[in-house]
Amino acid sequence: MASLPLLINERSEPVAQKKGKVNIKKRMTLLYVLMLSAMILLLIRTGYLQIIKGPSLKQLAIEQQTRDSVVSSERGTIYDRNYKVLAQSASTNMVCVVPVNIKEEGNGEEVARALSEILDLDYEEVYAKTQKNSYYEIIKRRVEAEEVEKIRALNLVGIRLDADTKRYYPNGSLASHVIGFTGNDNQGLWGIESVYDDVLKGKAGRIITAKSANGSDMPYEYEQYMDPIQGRDVVLTIDETIQHFVEKHLETAVAETGVQNGAACIVMNPKTGEILAMATKPDYDLNQPMTISDPAVLESLKSLSGEDYQSAYSAELNKLWRNKAVVDTYEPGSTFKAMVAAAALEENAVSLNSSFFCSGSKTVSGVPIGCHNRNGHGAESFEEAVHNSCNPAFIEIGAMLGKQQFREYYKSFGFGETTGFELPGEAEGIFFSESQMRELELATSSFGQGFNVTPLQMITAMSAVANGGYLMQPYIVKQINDENGNAVEVTQPKVVRQVISAETSRTMCNILEGVVSEGGGKNAYVKGYRIAGKTGTSEKQPRGCNKYVASFLGFAPADDPQLACIVILDDPVGEYYGSLIAAPVVGRIMEDSLRYLGVERQYSAAEERESDINMPDVTGKTRAEAAKIINEAGLKYFVSGNEEGVVTTQMPRAGTAVRKDAICIFYMEGAEEENVVVPDVVGYSISDVNYLLANSNLNFMLLGTGRLHAEGVIQSVRQEPAPGTEVPQGTVIQVEFRYAGNE
Ligand SMILES: [Zn+2]
Repeated sequence: MASLPLLINERSEPVAQKKGKVNIKKRMTLLYVLMLSAMILLLIRTGYLQIIKGPSLKQLAIEQQTRDSVVSSERGTIYDRNYKVLAQSASTNMVCVVPVNIKEEGNGEEVARALSEILDLDYEEVYAKTQKNSYYEIIKRRVEAEEVEKIRALNLVGIRLDADTKRYYPNGSLASHVIGFTGNDNQGLWGIESVYDDVLKGKAGRIITAKSANGSDMPYEYEQYMDPIQGRDVVLTIDETIQHFVEKHLETAVAETGVQNGAACIVMNPKTGEILAMATKPDYDLNQPMTISDPAVLESLKSLSGEDYQSAYSAELNKLWRNKAVVDTYEPGSTFKAMVAAAALEENAVSLNSSFFCSGSKTVSGVPIGCHNRNGHGAESFEEAVHNSCNPAFIEIGAMLGKQQFREYYKSFGFGETTGFELPGEAEGIFFSESQMRELELATSSFGQGFNVTPLQMITAMSAVANGGYLMQPYIVKQINDENGNAVEVTQPKVVRQVISAETSRTMCNILEGVVSEGGGKNAYVKGYRIAGKTGTSEKQPRGCNKYVASFLGFAPADDPQLACIVILDDPVGEYYGSLIAAPVVGRIMEDSLRYLGVERQYSAAEERESDINMPDVTGKTRAEAAKIINEAGLKYFVSGNEEGVVTTQMPRAGTAVRKDAICIFYMEGAEEENVVVPDVVGYSISDVNYLLANSNLNFMLLGTGRLHAEGVIQSVRQEPAPGTEVPQGTVIQVEFRYAGNE
């Protein structure tokens, strides 16, 4: 419109020259302008009708001629990698009314009264729906069969019973942060249910019935049925069994450490980037995603009311739904040393012959930076520096690598950008800009401080260290199948880039295995499974707040990695070192998962020496025969009762796994088993535990890291049965030992 006056000016020519010509021209111009304006107005009007009012007018036209009802399509199933069901739709019914028919019949009150009674709904609300100017109103979805039958029996005009579906999550809270949930209309709201909503939901069918504008039947009434298109199935890379192990051990750790800000764990196939398990604690029941059940949270909301309560409740729900493993960032601490060491080796900035010296601290740009070992690690090789997780050595390693290369490897290992993972909300992490990164920042970055990463980035980077050097793109959707089970889309493992050489990767696998067998990661040790990894403990911001993130990042077996695993414990109460509280969790998850996958244990020479034996059967033997058998097995014995006759019972029983220095008690004919009280043996060294239990004629079995490691560095942390329990003499007491390292 604004351009019209300009048009007239351009068309106006000098007035004085030829009047007649000017007049004609003027009239033509005027006509032209009028026509143009009319055309524009017409265009605007039709455009308005078509574009702005179009849909509603069209809708009106359809509604005047037809009544249209929805036939829901069945939502696809979500499976784990072995086709165990994680989310499934079951058919139920929905109750609807047809207001035009009700008006014709004049039975609105009767219908509303019946439905509100049977379905336990508000009468007024149901009545209002029966009086609407429409052809179809949903009264209630997911109605139980029993109620449906009652309604059907009434045989009332204007009520429709249609098929409906309901979403079930057979495992409740399992993998809740991954699977997500649907809303009242079966629409995906969270997690895979939301991201893959279009794939899962299919397309609803319709029933269209022709009607005249006033609602009466048309002379040639017709009904048209359009089949719904079924949703497709989503098969995840998750292994339900490994997910169970992860959730079980993570829950125990949460209970034991009292974490204030939750916990997360990821298990990945380091060769492909497939996510085998992903868990966040606390979790929620997918069948009731809008319900908070944690009594502490409910208590904290108690004082609120009205809108304050509503908004606080939904804030808590949002917190509960957060997939910590992907969305939250944290300071990686010493786990990051694995990547720094790999980069330094790859660039030949260090070699296995490099040596370092730790006096307990190192001064950078005038700032003294301490080692976790205040007394200093002294002279150490590169390998020992990694085993010791020595900060001063890593400050040197970082400096030898240099700022430019440090930054390049940071990016190359996948930090500072999202991984391209399917689930939403992935964080990129925070790192120093080039100008921010001076000598001091390079120093702290070298031992994993001053920047933030996600657990998903860390396990992906560690997988590259472990798998021969390839950064894989992590993924959780294995394939999409049509309703007949045929794959329509299969995800292939994707190499993002090669970060380090196969040789550097092999060297790092050896060094990181040593962290668990020799260094600060001893508590992740599992007999026979060659676990490699790195511990991490970082203080949260602001420094001095006394809040920590404890973590362990590992893989196994070291010579052919099948699994990578990260555990994050955010703000534990009491013990907060990753080596003490996160490493044992990874050890337990690895042990269960590797056994489940059928990975064979390989015992080292030291493990062979420490291996268990099964108690031989000596019942029915004479004292001499029994003694010979026990001595040949390398065990000791003790006789209770008469030396004559035969052994009637023995303790430990035949077949019990015992240590090689176990004592077997022979109960001869007539002798009765004697009970003893189990002493408290928590907080002692192996030899002290041995002494205390032998004094009570009890045997013991070493659990945890105690199997491999020397006297002095490990301590008993748990026993079973508990102190004070009465048990028969000779019973095997299970005692778990833990390495007391503080890193
Ligand atoms: Zn040190």
